[in-house]
This record gives sequence, structure tokens and C-alpha cells, in this order.
Amino acid sequence: MAAESQPRAGRLAGKNAIITGAAGGIGLETTILFAKEGASVLMADISEAALAKALAKVKELVPNAPRLSTIKCDVSKESDVAAAVESQDQYGGIDVMFNNAGIMHGQDDDAIHTSEQVWDLTQNINVKGVWYGSKHAVLSMRRHQKKAGSIINTASFVALMGAATPQLAYTASKGAVLAMTRELAIVHARENIRFNSLCPGPLNTPLLQDWLGDDVQKRYRREVHFPSGRFGEAIEQAHAVVFLASDESSFVNATEFLVDGGLSKAYVTSE
Ligand code: NAD
Repeated sequence: MAAESQPRAGRLAGKNAIITGAAGGIGLETTILFAKEGASVLMADISEAALAKALAKVKELVPNAPRLSTIKCDVSKESDVAAAVESQDQYGGIDVMFNNAGIMHGQDDDAIHTSEQVWDLTQNINVKGVWYGSKHAVLSMRRHQKKAGSIINTASFVALMGAATPQLAYTASKGAVLAMTRELAIVHARENIRFNSLCPGPLNTPLLQDWLGDDVQKRYRREVHFPSGRFGEAIEQAHAVVFLASDESSFVNATEFLVDGGLSKAYVTSE
């Protein structure tokens, strides 16, 4: 067999994936691991400048990566999401969709102080974006008569626990992702399209770290609850996503896949 006709090695060999929010944080680390594991990846993100930097980084770290490409996509716009997914028709459609893009707005607050504008923006990106990604991924998998598909939607540990410091729009949006993903998993199970939610704990990524900034009190209120004493790293989420995307998880469906260092099971006091 000629070398180029041999299947690529890797846990995701031969799979075609789309990752939203791929230019930073969890999305970028997942793109790198997916490429290392033999998947082709379309990196979708709202920021073209960040995408260009991210693509260069992936190419540098994984020089023998399968097909890698980028697309500017605002997940809150259905036409953008549809265009991203349909761009993969020429490659036989997609096998994996990681609906990961999300925001936590700096002015997200409690019921009294969160503005309607912050509420709507958060739901449009975090909830509608996941709906559009799920919808168009299913349509692609049907169009290309895929025998199996894996769709992973990023929720958060705050979908399962109340946050002591208010971020109402974000918490509500992640609860919606969890409930929506659970239903999608059941509705599409007979098509062998699996849906799982990823529930990260607090991470060392710009989403949270920029929001916390230099506010020592804000940081302390969180750190005291970490059983492991530290924030999680984006790559620790990416390893979980590789598992959920791969055929190794073929009987894992509708889970709330927690990667939180045990935080959601902890009863911790400050002294
Ligand atoms: P990040 O801010 O580091 O990266 C998010 C990426 O999404 C960025 O590249 C950004 O440009 C992109 N993005 C923002 N709005 C978009 C839009 N409308 N369309 C397309 N792309 C858009 O964030 P992260 O920490 O990697 O978070 C990824 C996901 O994980 C989010 O859904 C977030 O809510 C969730 N999460 C994060 C944490 C945490 O502590 N960081 C904890 C739990 C859940």
C-alpha cells in the first residue's frame, strides 16, 4: 500500500470536525489535540485576527496535521453556522461538532443589576449558538448518511451548582445548554448521533482570568473552594473532548461530563 493511502494513526483518524470558539482557550487546545489524533479540523471563531494566530500555532505544533482550516463565524447567527457546516460538504460532511464558543459578560450580575442587553447577548451566543451548531451538525450527518456522529456542547459546572457570586445570565445559559443537550441526545440516539455536555470547572483561560483581573477578593472566593487548590487548564478539558469525540465513547450519551477537579462534590470551608 502506498504511504499516502494508508490510514492515519490516531484516536480520531479519518474524522472531520468543527470546533467553535477555536481561536482561544479550550477550543484552541482541543484543536491541537484533535489534529495530533488525526482529525481534520475547521476552526470557527468570531475573531479573524485570533484565528490567524491560532492556526499558525496549530500548524507549528502539529506540522503533519491533517486538513486544517479557519472560518469567521458568529455562532449567534444561524447563517454563519450553516455556512461553516456546509463548507464541509465537499469533504463528505462532519463526524464531530464541538459547540464550545461562549461568553461570560463583564456586566453579568444578579437579577436586579443584569441588563436585558447583557442577558440577550449571553443567551444568543451561549444557547442559540449551541442550538444552531447542533441543528446544522445533525443536518450534515443526515445529508452524508453518517453511521455515527458525536456532538459535544460546552456547558459549565455552574449549570449544576449555584454560583455564590452572581452571573445570572451565564448560569441560566449553561443550564439551558445542559437541558437542551440531554433532550437532543435522546431524540437522536436511534440515528447513532451522540450528544454530551462538557462541564468544565473554573479555568486558567482568558474568559475567567480577564474577568477576575487583579481582584484578590474575587479570586479568593473561588480558590478556597478548589479541592485541588488550583484552576483547571484548558488542555485538561481538551483531553476529555477527545474521548467524547472518539469511538472509545460509543456508548457514552447524554452525560454531564464534569471536568472540575472535584469542585462540584466538595464541601469546603475557608479555615
Ligand atoms: P475563551 O474566552 O478563552 O475562548 C472563547 C473563544 O470563543 C474565543 O476565541 C472567542 O473569540 C470565541 N467567541 C466568543 N464569542 C463568539 C461568537 N459569538 N461566535 C464564535 N466564537 C466566539 O473561553 P474558554 O475559557 O476557552 O471557554 C470556552 C467555553 O467553555 C465557553 O462556552 C465557556 O462558557 C466554557 N467554560 C469556561 C470556563 C472557564 O473557567 N474558562 C468554565 C466553564 C465553562
